[in-house]
Amino acid sequence: MIRFVGTLLLVICFSASASSQSAATRSPSQPRELPSGVSMASAIPAPSLIVLITIDQFRDDYLDRFGPQLRGGLARFAHGGAWFTNAHHDHAITETAPGHATLLAGRFPRSTGIMANRIGVADPAAPLLGDNAAPGASPKRFQGTTLVDWLRAKDPRSRALSVSRKDRAAILPIGRSQADVYWFSGGRFTTSRYYRDTLPDWVNRFNARRMPQNLAGKSWTLLLPDSAYKEPDSVSFEMNGRNFLFPHRFPDDSAAAAGAAIASPFLDEIELDLALEGLNALSLGKAPQTDVLAVSLSATDAIGHGYGQDSREMHDNVLRLDRNLGAFIDSLFKLRDSTRIAFALTADHGVGTIPELVPRSVKPTPVRVSVADLAAALRIALAAQKLDSNLVDQDHQIVLADRNALKSRTGDLDKALSDFAARARAMPGVARVDRFRDLLRGDTINDAITRRWVHQFPATANVELVITLTPFSLFSEGLVANHGSPHDYDTHVPLIFTGPWFAPGRYGEFVRTVDLAPTLAAVAGVKPTEKLDGVVLRRALK
Ligand SMILES: [Zn+2]
Repeated sequence: MIRFVGTLLLVICFSASASSQSAATRSPSQPRELPSGVSMASAIPAPSLIVLITIDQFRDDYLDRFGPQLRGGLARFAHGGAWFTNAHHDHAITETAPGHATLLAGRFPRSTGIMANRIGVADPAAPLLGDNAAPGASPKRFQGTTLVDWLRAKDPRSRALSVSRKDRAAILPIGRSQADVYWFSGGRFTTSRYYRDTLPDWVNRFNARRMPQNLAGKSWTLLLPDSAYKEPDSVSFEMNGRNFLFPHRFPDDSAAAAGAAIASPFLDEIELDLALEGLNALSLGKAPQTDVLAVSLSATDAIGHGYGQDSREMHDNVLRLDRNLGAFIDSLFKLRDSTRIAFALTADHGVGTIPELVPRSVKPTPVRVSVADLAAALRIALAAQKLDSNLVDQDHQIVLADRNALKSRTGDLDKALSDFAARARAMPGVARVDRFRDLLRGDTINDAITRRWVHQFPATANVELVITLTPFSLFSEGLVANHGSPHDYDTHVPLIFTGPWFAPGRYGEFVRTVDLAPTLAAVAGVKPTEKLDGVVLRRALK
């Protein structure tokens, strides 16, 4: 049973067998192919280090859009990697937690148990070290295994280090395994008691350098001359009309500067330094076993939410990210044998255009859909049937019901749900309202929206309705730009592998981010210890 954190009283619940349900849906272009029994045709030895770089909210098209100005790490992936240019998170709620949870699991959210950010990593039983004000965090809701577990099943010496600005982005790629997992909270990097009781010396030393605090009084200026940026800087929709012009000055107060660092390219730079410190301190990647370094970079997400994908800020962020990743890879190659490192670059989701900036030619015109209006429509529909509103609840895209408690009132519940669905469909910005149980019998080959919802929840989940907004419409929550929909602009992300195991090139076939883990497992010569949704991307392999 999984409890929503936040306002919902209801829970998403489903039978225990649900997580082992077969992968009944197929991507349109790929036959089912189980990764078990994979043997590497290649004679290249397994990597001593697998590096997963996840860029939060990174659109695949950024690599081409800014391509001529890239010369660092992103350029190295784009030009030297096996790049799947039509890779998607093939699930509906394209948020950070579900996205990260799929990456090294090779399974959709219906099976990882991480179905939304609100069913993420919050865990009061796992307080943060040295930060009692922050909510605790752990992977207790994550179900099943990840690549880290498969590697350890083969060689218990395999270790993992995962770092991010965000707790969920550090924790979820690793799954439930004990590992070195650190994220940014209260101006410093820390972890929770799920992992350890004290911070290791190397993290304490890193924090003592106060790199985020030292941004106080400095400014985020453009990396290149003004003329290198074709985007207008003065777009008042950015940041809801506040502080949308370069240069972006950090506050003079050091604690405030560390907070502001989150929405700048500089925290990623600091985090990449932390990853290298950790690699050294933990002696990762020294063979004979395969270790894992997972780095999730969150600046792009904060900048994308605030300024949008078409902003000058995003352009400069991607350029700086490129340079920072280049320096990171150069340093890594000085520390370890580059021929023994396998890289994967991807994102946890994409992002849509700021609704107000979507061209007028796009119909229907995108709007911001009021969550309160949807809630009011549900209350009216329930009241008409005299149903207990504590037993049916709506949270953004989904309506949940406690059918067990409503057993004698099933007919009334169905009437209320139909009534609500009709009211919701009449609202501008709502594209579809579907009964989840109908989608389970729907066309998952030709209808990507149906398929992505089916991949989101177990078949036995108490999800009654799912709501899909029209393209570029958003739920009204104060964010300038957002993601979270099953539309391609939110699902489409880069998926690029580099290292001697991979055949460089651009591959245009439709693939899924759940294919990342089985592909890395094949390269490492390990077998997933459970049934996966993903398949080995053999075309990428030499
Ligand atoms: Zn994200």
